[in-house]
Amino acid sequence: MHIRAGGIDEDKYSRLKLFEWYDVERVKRQKVMVVGAGALGNEVCKNLVLSGYRRLTIVDMDRIVKSNLNRCVFFSDEDAERQRYKAEVIAEKIKEMEKEVEVEYYTKRIEEFPEDFIRKHDLVMGCVDNVAARLHINASCYALRIPYIDGATHGQVGKVQVVMPPETSCLECGMNATHAKIMQKRFSCTGKDIHYFEPKIAADINTTSIIAAIQVQEALKITHERDNYIRNVFYFDGSRNFFSTLDLPINPRCPNHASL
Ligand SMILES: [Zn+2]
Repeated sequence: MHIRAGGIDEDKYSRLKLFEWYDVERVKRQKVMVVGAGALGNEVCKNLVLSGYRRLTIVDMDRIVKSNLNRCVFFSDEDAERQRYKAEVIAEKIKEMEKEVEVEYYTKRIEEFPEDFIRKHDLVMGCVDNVAARLHINASCYALRIPYIDGATHGQVGKVQVVMPPETSCLECGMNATHAKIMQKRFSCTGKDIHYFEPKIAADINTTSIIAAIQVQEALKITHERDNYIRNVFYFDGSRNFFSTLDLPINPRCPNHASL
């Protein structure tokens, strides 16, 4: 068989263009913030770039350790030995994947950024591993009316929540009373930062990949203003071969909807 250069196979977007709704230029223009450069952050960044996103901001203050290496496609033994910053390594690697990518990275906590910084983005992807950071992003995005797609994994269980202000509920709407109490303490007016225990259960790469892929799938729908995005929680349990979606109503007592 004769292989011919040129034509459809020379266009890196040709397969994406087979979706009649897919708009290459629109996806390229979107500025996406990825908070968390761990296991989910690796997968989300990889899929964003492969889906055509070209303007990324990556935020994570952690450095790479060996135990990250079983589920982080962009990290190597050498990165762990040199204790490199996660955000820096992902930024470098996605630039190698696709030279058109414009990427900024920041090695600090999301809580340290002013709202004006988040405001520059069209979409925020949550790939963090703690409730405090998750709720901070959620509240900021809701106030700024920026879509927020939060991913979480716990063993073989995962969850994606799509927060589309002002239409949908937010992360805090579905929060249980224990979490609310802890957060109240954490941000109490004494100014003391209270640390609390969050058990670390390793997620495997397969659960991580599935959750990250759903996050980027939803990002594409929102970017194209399609109305078939998940409303608004996707729940997955790999050990029971089960997934489901749940429409979580706005909780009238949730502080993020007070001004609506
Ligand atoms: Zn809410």
